[in-house]
Amino acid sequence: MKKTVLLVGLLWLVTVLSPILLQKGETRNFEGETSLVSENLETDGAESSTVTALAEVSQDATVSVDVMVSGKKLSFPLDEYLVGVLAAEMPASFPEEALKAQVIAARSFILYRMTYPPSDGVHDGVPLCDDPGHCKAYRDLSDPDTIETLFGLNSETYMEKIRAAVRETDGLVLTYQGDPAMAAFHAVSGGMTESAEDVWGSAVPYLVEVESPGEEDAVQFTETVLFDPEDLRAILTEAYPEAVLDEDPALWLADVERSPAGMIKSASLGGVVVTGMELRMLLGLNSADFTWELQDGQVEITTTGYGHGVGMSQYGARAMALDGATCEEIVSHYYPGCEIDLLENTAILAED
Ligand SMILES: [Zn+2]
Repeated sequence: MKKTVLLVGLLWLVTVLSPILLQKGETRNFEGETSLVSENLETDGAESSTVTALAEVSQDATVSVDVMVSGKKLSFPLDEYLVGVLAAEMPASFPEEALKAQVIAARSFILYRMTYPPSDGVHDGVPLCDDPGHCKAYRDLSDPDTIETLFGLNSETYMEKIRAAVRETDGLVLTYQGDPAMAAFHAVSGGMTESAEDVWGSAVPYLVEVESPGEEDAVQFTETVLFDPEDLRAILTEAYPEAVLDEDPALWLADVERSPAGMIKSASLGGVVVTGMELRMLLGLNSADFTWELQDGQVEITTTGYGHGVGMSQYGARAMALDGATCEEIVSHYYPGCEIDLLENTAILAED
């Protein structure tokens, strides 16, 4: 159980942010593909034979995962569940090694959750749900229409990429001191990842700042949002009635303290101490790493990165993969100090 048990309370926070981002990124990635009608979906027979072949050799297939899907408790073999998670969490257009790194991270997180189920009682002891605002995003791919909507003309290629990423990393788990790792991830770090300590207030030995170069071509690398000062004042005053917001909106946010990776750890909003995370949630910003300026009578907020910034950056993983890195090198970079172990060596299988 070790110190990780103390982190159960973090789970909600860990998962609240990353899947949301990925979904947004995914939507943008798949724009233009969703309207295309595909005729090259695999047949039912071909799909089931693939699953059968996979199950015969798979460590993943020996683990059953309970998940609340649309409010109903379902059980999946881990390999099948990972296919649905990967389809929902990372664009299938990403390079194979990035997809494989994503599967290793997701598998580790799922096993972590099975070891330490959420303590908030939201899904009655079931370790996972399909609510991207709470656990992992998941796509039910049993309906060919869903696949077609997601991948359009690339349906066959992308489904095979996703299945291959799961199959080729079968049983690979990130562990820390023998426990599955809480392998958080996010879309875009902005150049350096954040530490769990800075973002969630509790240190995790392998969720620390690391460099994450090569993300600049992500749509969400930076984004500027404009607010009319009066509209913004109304939002801020409702949330922080004690804040004194004078005439010059450029001065509303002061005494900004940042983490080494750039996130606003604390600031004074009209005399009220706030965090960047609080303002991110309140204003719907991409990240808690942002600047605040007055331009042409508008408050201009420019964010860097997309997501909580902790753990693996998906666009960083993509950049590493395009640069020739293997999935093992990618996860070793983003989760320093973790080992890559086999599922059969973890307590999940040992207990069965
Ligand atoms: Zn949940």
